[in-house]
Amino acid sequence: MQMPAQWSNFINGQWVGSDQQLPIFNPATGTQIATVAQATTEQATQALDGAQRCIAERRLSKGRPADRVCLLLRVASEIRKIAEYGAKILCLENGKRYSDAHDEFVEAARYFEYYAGMADKIEGVSIPLGDDYVDYTVYEAIGVSVQIVPWNFPVSICARSLAPALAAGNACIVKSPELSPLGLCVLFEALEKAGLPKGAAQLLCGLGSEVGGFLVSSPKTNQIVFTGSVPTGRRIMQAAAHWATPCVMELGGKSAGVVLEDADIHDLLVNIKSGIFLNSGQVCSALSRLLVHRSIYAQVIEAVSTMVKGLTRGDGFSGADITPVISARQQQQIGEMCKLAQEEGARLVVGGGIESEVEGFYVQPTVFADVSPSMTIAQEEVFGPVLCIMPFDTDEEAIAIANGTDYGLVAGVFTNDLRRAMRFTQQLRSGQIFVNEWYAGGIETPFGGVGLSGYGREKGQEALYSYVRTKNIAISLKGQ
Ligand code: NAD
Repeated sequence: MQMPAQWSNFINGQWVGSDQQLPIFNPATGTQIATVAQATTEQATQALDGAQRCIAERRLSKGRPADRVCLLLRVASEIRKIAEYGAKILCLENGKRYSDAHDEFVEAARYFEYYAGMADKIEGVSIPLGDDYVDYTVYEAIGVSVQIVPWNFPVSICARSLAPALAAGNACIVKSPELSPLGLCVLFEALEKAGLPKGAAQLLCGLGSEVGGFLVSSPKTNQIVFTGSVPTGRRIMQAAAHWATPCVMELGGKSAGVVLEDADIHDLLVNIKSGIFLNSGQVCSALSRLLVHRSIYAQVIEAVSTMVKGLTRGDGFSGADITPVISARQQQQIGEMCKLAQEEGARLVVGGGIESEVEGFYVQPTVFADVSPSMTIAQEEVFGPVLCIMPFDTDEEAIAIANGTDYGLVAGVFTNDLRRAMRFTQQLRSGQIFVNEWYAGGIETPFGGVGLSGYGREKGQEALYSYVRTKNIAISLKGQ
């Protein structure tokens, strides 16, 4: 496929280059496929100033809210037009399956449609204080929203924050991930075509440590929406503390699925296949721990092992089950986690490490059994196609193991006993719980974590209220 060799930043309505370029690689071959202009801190200042002007001139909020409805619907329509082209670029730079890359653009369009429907329904309340007062609240845009995006689902995660933020009238600056910025460049081409006001949405393709750090430390930034790892999240929260900048933090996970004795094994295998092997396990809400009732423990391990041995490997365009991971570094880290798991006593059932014989950054789909809750592999995010299986005897023990990490992004239970499932939903500690279907839900359902998985919610109607602040107006009628 023909694609531009050089890509740019989108600042104040213009595509802008830079003296320095960041190389972009195809993870399936390890070869460079393009470069992107590395945004500078001077350009970040221009973006912040442009966003502030957009807010000061009320470019998104001075008209009727219905204008924003139309604007967001135009964005959705433009995204749908470029979905196939964008998916090819995303597939090439990210390594993910083409169909999953395409889904990201479709999901991005859905975010804009969904929040378009809310843009003219952001209603305050009237508060009764007796005859001498009129009191009411309004929801206002927060202002300049800086949104820092990770590489694993860059397009859909970007739209997840951008759509509600624009629906509420904020001016947004998106910092793309270094390893996979091109899909976002295509997304911003669609935003440009939809005719967003100048400064309403800008894209900076710089380094996290440089441009990202600069943006989150700036007093001109009124909100930070961060999706990424815990160490980076901590750094950003420290920077945000200086100006008391409000944050939404979407961090990592170590999510557990609990399999009760009566679970449907066929359905379970389908869920494991997508739960931990989708995008080669590079999913924050991946099903990375499987807790299995001891009475079916051996049977489940056998079935999972057979399923995993049948998984195919290939690049994103091949339609294979296992695609490359994002980088050589990520591949190396996953390999090291697998090695450590064996050193700590986990039993390797299938896979076990990196694919060193083939070009590209491939990792074997891997299953460990007899994993104990205190092992590193059971506590820390691998962000690769690696499943830990652990036995339990009682529901109480399963809940204790499931809740026994510092994370709490998602959790699940597989059973046909609804009463027992409900007990689990009450006691599992996480932002969302899946019963009998991993990743059940959608853009309509609130998403976010507890503990080290972060705070604040994205998706659903609730997320819109992460992008506004409440102002109360109290009017005295006394003496009139
Ligand atoms: P990362 O933390 O390395 O980087 C994320 C982003 O932060 C990148 O754009 C990077 O450039 C930027 N960044 C780095 N240092 C910065 C700084 N000092 N200031 C500002 N920005 C900075 O994460 P990653 O490797 O890109 O993504 C993987 C992680 O993201 C995993 O831990 C995964 O669980 C998490 N994640 C969470 C969710 C969620 O919704 N909860 C979704 C996807 C990924």
